Amino acid sequence: MSLTKSQHAIALEDKYGAHNYHPLPVVLAKGKGVKVWDVEGKEYYDFLSGYSALNQGHCHPAIVKAMQEQAEILTLTSRAFYNNILGEYEQYITEYFGFDRVLPMNTGVEGDETALKLCRKWAYTVKGIPDNEAKIIVAIDNFMGRTIAAVSASTDPSSYKGFGPYVPGFIKIPFNDLTALEEALQDKNVAGFMVEPIQGEAGVNVPDEGYLSAAAALCKKNNVLFIADEVQTGIARTGKLLACDHDQVKPDILVLGKALSGGTMPVSAVLASDEIMLTIHPGEHGSTFGGNPLACKVAMAALEVVKNEKLAENASAMGEIFRTGIRKIDSPLVELVRGKGLLNAIVIKDEEKNNLAWDICIKLAENGILAKPTHGNIIRFAPPLVITKAEMEYCVGQIAQTLSTF
Ligand code: PLP
Repeated sequence: MSLTKSQHAIALEDKYGAHNYHPLPVVLAKGKGVKVWDVEGKEYYDFLSGYSALNQGHCHPAIVKAMQEQAEILTLTSRAFYNNILGEYEQYITEYFGFDRVLPMNTGVEGDETALKLCRKWAYTVKGIPDNEAKIIVAIDNFMGRTIAAVSASTDPSSYKGFGPYVPGFIKIPFNDLTALEEALQDKNVAGFMVEPIQGEAGVNVPDEGYLSAAAALCKKNNVLFIADEVQTGIARTGKLLACDHDQVKPDILVLGKALSGGTMPVSAVLASDEIMLTIHPGEHGSTFGGNPLACKVAMAALEVVKNEKLAENASAMGEIFRTGIRKIDSPLVELVRGKGLLNAIVIKDEEKNNLAWDICIKLAENGILAKPTHGNIIRFAPPLVITKAEMEYCVGQIAQTLSTF
């Protein structure tokens, strides 16, 4: 029996790849803006956006052009030598976000690891915490990625179980709980508090208004660094350039990734002040690919698109349409819709744990909408920020129609 193109591609991954993901059975072959097409030519709206890496939309022409042009000139020098783009990029991104200095990395988790190392180094060389005693507070249900330090900070067994021994030095407190933070800050060896302004992977957990600013103030009072992991929430996703901007907070260390390249290649960045960044000296941290000229050009193009196309403003407006539209849906399955800008989630009522969210996502895909469940009964909806009003209204209609068949 002959396989369809989709079945063939899935069978290859199944036979030759590691089984570390459980994808929806859709095989994508092309993307443009908010849309993607599978190998059979079926069209979908992409409501995952590569986990918020594709804020600027698939294959944005300005980003692709920058990439193609630089790819023909110089792609990698390593940091053994200077290159003619890195300094320009460093000036551009630090001015763009208002920080003294940047340390360029590649993936989000590398950015987070960099922030943890920077925080520890600052603790020993500036704050004066005794060697190897520094602690960093993190929030329960955080997601930093998949390295040993990231899973050591995780409270999700599917992230950490089976991968011990774990990195010590993390204090885990409930998210959105200022009392718990205040108590944890009593420990004199605390160097930092690292937090996602909205917990994305945990199911779009939005904290109370004022939580971030109060948390940042508590950190300041205790001479502790406030570290914002904006790998998912940053770069206009939540309707502001940074999710911290909703609370007028400027983090001591800011971590960005994902949409920093518009989904074209891994580019992450850690931004901080002179005092913090200059605690790391030559040879103490780095990456072969971090700061490569191709990534630098791509990141500048990606950030220009965000500014020129007013993506934060559009995310804010389209997010309102999404949440208002979903709240109007008369379905016993919709327990709750929450989010900011275009980082939203619908919590599905599934008391019997029948995997309803997965079945809904399969049906949504049939109806031309790609979304993925997170944490069982939560479906995240995070389309590219270039989505138009007409497209959003159409998609809300498709979601309503899909839910009505359950
Ligand atoms: N931090 C946050 C908040 C994330 O959402 C993610 C990925 O989803 C990461 C870090 C890890 O990024 P990456 O997968 O690029 O390593």
